[in-house]
Amino acid sequence: MWDELIDYHCHLDLYPHFEQLILDCERKRIHTLAVTTTPRAFDRNYQLTKETKYIRAALGLHPQLVSKLAGEIEIWKDLLPRTRYVGEVGLDASPQHYGSFEQQKTIFAEILSCCSAAGEKILSVHSLRTAPTVVSMIEEYLENPTCKVVLHWFTGSGKQLEKAISLGCYFSVNAQMAVTHKQQEIIKQIPIDRLLTETDGPFTYSGGRPAQPTDVGIALNQIAKLRAMDKHEIKKAILENLKSLEA
Ligand code: MN
Repeated sequence: MWDELIDYHCHLDLYPHFEQLILDCERKRIHTLAVTTTPRAFDRNYQLTKETKYIRAALGLHPQLVSKLAGEIEIWKDLLPRTRYVGEVGLDASPQHYGSFEQQKTIFAEILSCCSAAGEKILSVHSLRTAPTVVSMIEEYLENPTCKVVLHWFTGSGKQLEKAISLGCYFSVNAQMAVTHKQQEIIKQIPIDRLLTETDGPFTYSGGRPAQPTDVGIALNQIAKLRAMDKHEIKKAILENLKSLEA
């Protein structure tokens, strides 16, 4: 299994060649979490991936879309029993989305409560400029210990990182994260047994085009370099982490 890779946060359905990417991930054995941004997108993702070995479709309601699509929380709730995987969900307090922040919190609380009530869910969570609130809300609303959170593109402080670690969170790291010294320090401080890799494609770039799951090895190389570890050791660790996350 050591030639397998992990892209635990990718928007496969936002590429024009969505179906081809599914085949690529299967053929190249890239464990991929296909996150969605609206509940209405889930069914097609599910249908196209349900027979695959390496791709899982996640049910999302992206915080950046909450101002327009808050009503779709009802569709999200109806679909939740169909999947173990939830994402992309979370909070976003960047200037263009701050106006819906209160509404985002209401929706995120509902999502966490529903997951906690159902149990056994794995959530890929967005926390841009909101790490303290996201982490506190996970603590408050996701009490069920059978649920697990993967904080995607985490940019919080060291203190928030520690709190998230104590709550059992995992962290999916992409190649575009290590741009600042602070971010590099965060990537170094994530416990090796909580690390995963992601691309967040098509929202990151690789060689001047949107990154694809097949580019996720770049994140692996960066983590290895930052932590001064052998790439194969990191790869082995993240594959073990995937096993324990999904156990
Ligand atoms: Mn994303």
